Formats: sequence, structure tokens, C-alpha cells
Amino acid sequence: MRIEKAWAEFYQIPVHREMHDAIRHFSKMDLVFAHVRMDEGLVGSGFTYSIIPFGAREICSLINEGLGPLIQGMDPRDHELIWNRMWRQVDWVGRGGIAVLAVAAIDIAIWDLKAKIAGMPLHRLLGGARKRVPVYNTDGGWLNHSIEQLIEETKRIVAAGFRGTKIKVGKDDPAEDAERIAAVREVLGPHRTLMVDANERFTSAEAIRRARMWEPYNLFWFEEPLPAEDLLGHASLKAHTSIPIALGESLFTRFQFRDYIATGGVSIVQPDACRCGGITEWLKIAHMADCHNMQVSPHFVMELHLPLVAAIPNSLFVEYIPSLNPVLTQPLELIDGYFTPNEKPGLGVPFDWEKLRSFRVSHEN
Ligand SMILES: [Mg+2]
Repeated sequence: MRIEKAWAEFYQIPVHREMHDAIRHFSKMDLVFAHVRMDEGLVGSGFTYSIIPFGAREICSLINEGLGPLIQGMDPRDHELIWNRMWRQVDWVGRGGIAVLAVAAIDIAIWDLKAKIAGMPLHRLLGGARKRVPVYNTDGGWLNHSIEQLIEETKRIVAAGFRGTKIKVGKDDPAEDAERIAAVREVLGPHRTLMVDANERFTSAEAIRRARMWEPYNLFWFEEPLPAEDLLGHASLKAHTSIPIALGESLFTRFQFRDYIATGGVSIVQPDACRCGGITEWLKIAHMADCHNMQVSPHFVMELHLPLVAAIPNSLFVEYIPSLNPVLTQPLELIDGYFTPNEKPGLGVPFDWEKLRSFRVSHEN
């Protein structure tokens, strides 16, 4: 078995609603696919994405001109050999960001191919730790929602059966954040899960002040309180609050996760397979967390993370944001607050290539 060709293309998907967090406003999503075709005709498809209006072309170019030709002729079953050959080239131009996003897209395509070759769904190939996965909702708690909207959205989330909800924080006035948290907790009642997410907005001192204000609301985690570069600030914050600290969507490779775990800056890790370096890297991060008796709750892309969360024993939730729904043949179905991974061989993300066609920006070169 050998890889005949690997190439990239990208699509621009419109956003499903107005979404703001403490540092960004989302206007669209670029979805970058890597396809890997092997000599026996099977094709594996992986993807990464950008939520800002640039970067996708550069990722495509890195794959089409660099990584694709680099892995040509390799055996698609050798995911470690492939990952390490890519890493030993791209680490010269980037140990994170665009370089690792490109590696991630190819690595995910390799796992799609491996699962198809094995005739197994990904969640079983990688471990098969659970049959269904609890889901929390992030789509009803954007920072642009008024308190009235937050209350209405939370009522809908409870009625739909979600296991919890997460709201964005980072208003200029800390009292306004506290009012919003209190309003949502009131609707949820004492037992449902509530998380907050600051998207790297604060200094350590400010985050400690706000965390102390929020402790009475029984928060399950405080996500991305500080810029990802501030390892020591996270360790200091974690030592000053009872609220668990969750992060990982802005970290690349197992090495950055290791540094956070080693310095005591994180309680719950949130690797994103599309960003951290692919499924090969995601698994290492998840198992490293397990070695430290820590849990994993990946960021976004619920369709891809569902089989990963189902595969490992120390996982928590998948995160509900329905950004890919417009380009799927069948959106995930919430049953009693859970998603169930599908049993088809491969990743199990049902992309609708017909629907995608109208969003295509670049073609295979
Ligand atoms: Mg987040």
C-alpha cells in the first residue's frame, strides 16, 4: 500500500448566526481539506479550519507544494512515520500555527484512510471506551447576546436536553459578567453544568479577581482566562481559585500541553485535533492527561471530536456549535443530551460534497 497523491482545497462556509467573544467577531469559516489517495483507489479526507479571513490559502499551499509531495510513496498505515516526517520538515518554518494546521489536516486524512482500510469506525479503532458522549451547548451564550437573550437561549438549551451550557465572559464591567452568569445559573438550576469562556481576555490579576466573584455560581470550568503564552499566569490563577481552569484550543502539539500540565496551569485539557497537530497528536495529549488523572474536553468541531471523545476513558463532553450543519448530509442527533458516534468505517463526518461545491474557493491543483 502506498500514497499516490495528497492535495488540499478550501471552502468558505457562512456563519449560522452572529457570534462574538471577548476578542473576536466571527464572519465566516474557512474549511481546508487534505485528501490522500492511495494506490488501491481509496481516498482519505481530513480537514482543518480558520475562523479569521486569512490563512487558508497558505495552508493549502503548504500541503500542495510541500507536505503532499513529501509523503508520496509512503504506506498510509504508518501514521507515526508520516507525522514525524512532516514534523521534521515544517518545524523549521513553524512549531505551531499554519504549519501545524497543515500537518493536522493530512494526519486526519491518514486516520480516515486507516479506519477505512481497517473497515472500522474511528471510535472503535482508537479505543472504544464509551458508546455515547454527553454534549454541552456553547451556541446560546455569545457575548453579543443581551441578558434577556441569554435567558431565552438557556431555556431552549435546557428544553432540548443538553447536559450543560457555556457562556462567553469578558465584559468591561466585571459586575455585568457576574449578572449574566447569575441569570443563566438561575435558569439552569443548581444541578446542570455551567462553564464560562474568556477567550484569553484577562491578565492573571484580573482573572483572579473575577474568578473569586464567580465562585458562588458553581462553575464547572473557567476557559482560556489568559493569553495562551502566559503559562506562569495560569499557574498563579489556578492556585488562587476553586474553579477548574480549562484550555487547549490555542495550544499546538503535545509539547505545549506538557508544559501546561507540568507547571500546574491547567485542570481540564481541550485539544482541538484540527489545530493541535491531528489525531496522532490529540491521542498523545489525551493519554498524557490520563497519566496525570486529568480529563479531556475538546474544543469545537463536534463531528470530528465525537469519535475521539468516545474512544478514550478520561473524556468529558463534546461542544455543540452547529457550524458545519450547512455542509453535512445528516447533522448529529441529540438524544437525551448525548451524541452517538456512527458505525461506518472512517472518521464518520458526513460531509455533503454537493452542498460544499457552492462554497468552494480553490480547486485541487
Ligand atoms: Mg473557547
